Amino acid sequence: MSKPNTALSIETQAVHAGREVLHEQGVHALPIDLSSTYPLHDLDEGGRSLEAMAMGGLPIGSPVYSRLYNPTTARYEQALAQMEGAEEAVAFGSGMAAVTACLMAAKQRGGHVVAVRPLYGGTDHLLASGMLGLEVTWAAADGIAAAIRPDTAMVIVETPANPTLAMVDLDDVVRQAGKVPVLVDNTFATPILQNPIKQGVTLVLHSATKFLGGHGDVLAGIVATNNDWATELRKVRVITGNVLHPLAAYLLHRGLPTLPLRVRAQQAGAQVIAERLARHPAVSAVHFPGLPGQDPKGLLGRQMKGPGSLMAFELKGGFEAASVVMAEVKLMTAAVSLGSVDTLIQHPAALTHRVVDPAAREHSGVSQSLMRLSVGLESPEDLWADLEQALAKAMAKQAVGTAR
Ligand SMILES: *Cc1c(COP(=O)(O)O)cnc(C)c1O
Repeated sequence: MSKPNTALSIETQAVHAGREVLHEQGVHALPIDLSSTYPLHDLDEGGRSLEAMAMGGLPIGSPVYSRLYNPTTARYEQALAQMEGAEEAVAFGSGMAAVTACLMAAKQRGGHVVAVRPLYGGTDHLLASGMLGLEVTWAAADGIAAAIRPDTAMVIVETPANPTLAMVDLDDVVRQAGKVPVLVDNTFATPILQNPIKQGVTLVLHSATKFLGGHGDVLAGIVATNNDWATELRKVRVITGNVLHPLAAYLLHRGLPTLPLRVRAQQAGAQVIAERLARHPAVSAVHFPGLPGQDPKGLLGRQMKGPGSLMAFELKGGFEAASVVMAEVKLMTAAVSLGSVDTLIQHPAALTHRVVDPAAREHSGVSQSLMRLSVGLESPEDLWADLEQALAKAMAKQAVGTAR
């Protein structure tokens, strides 16, 4: 296998990473290997290969069986690892499968994790459920050091966080965590805008369902990390069967070359929408790192290359106004998920974060008046016209309500 060139810019990596072997194979486009099993030329070698992979290693010769290793998935993992500046990456069947695998691997090292809210609703639900037998301390971003115990196996943060866009300073998190490995959910930022490995973070997780897939047709998760953790994660994957299907890996890899373009164009559109929302009479607050005063720690430029294309905003009319907006948008789709080429709008308290403890939800800013918007590649003018007419309907309904 030819060596990946990590000196290349992220745009070039997006186009070429994980494709180094194609030339040797005599093909130009990515092949899809759908084999569930692989021929064994030699029983001894096959057995040794299986044993290596069962321990989280890579195949020695035959991949043996597709739950243990798949070349299509492995090429995508190599590409993502390179873009995150990590030694390796391990892909899973969904973002939550990736979170689960990280926590199961952490469980092998200690019974306790420290987590900072807000997190994605599903991650919060998994941690709060106790299902994996881990004890969780919920800490504020500045209280991580105080929450660490001798048996703490992992610190979990998300930045920018889903859904409030709250940002944590990763240099500070890593410093507070000391020897304890830090996991960052980098779904919102993507490797285009933020590379936590460079800041000393050990595990960088993505719901690849979002920006990495980008087209709303793949469910996947991936973790970029060092060799040791990758080995442990692969071991969990072999044992639990949380694999990514090779067709999904193919789609993710196929979409990777346009990731930098998509992220930047969506971000430019989001900036326009956020600025207009901030001036709209129906809106009481907009949470978007690209607006004045929203980056008090100076993380834009230092930690993030840009604000991204997600925002949250609060409506003066509360839940009722939010439901009108959800019902009245026509170009935007009222739907959960994010990071797609098309614009999606949703209500976190009622949907993605419904499963979070209500007191914790309110405390982390996920109020009943909060909406989350993921800006796609449409013209910002068309998007704004759509949002503006929906906001006008929400205001009109409220005026009728007050007049009554
Ligand atoms: C969607 C999401 C997840 C979960 O990923 P799935 O692919 O839906 O399982 C985890 N973290 C964040 C930040 C997300 O937005």
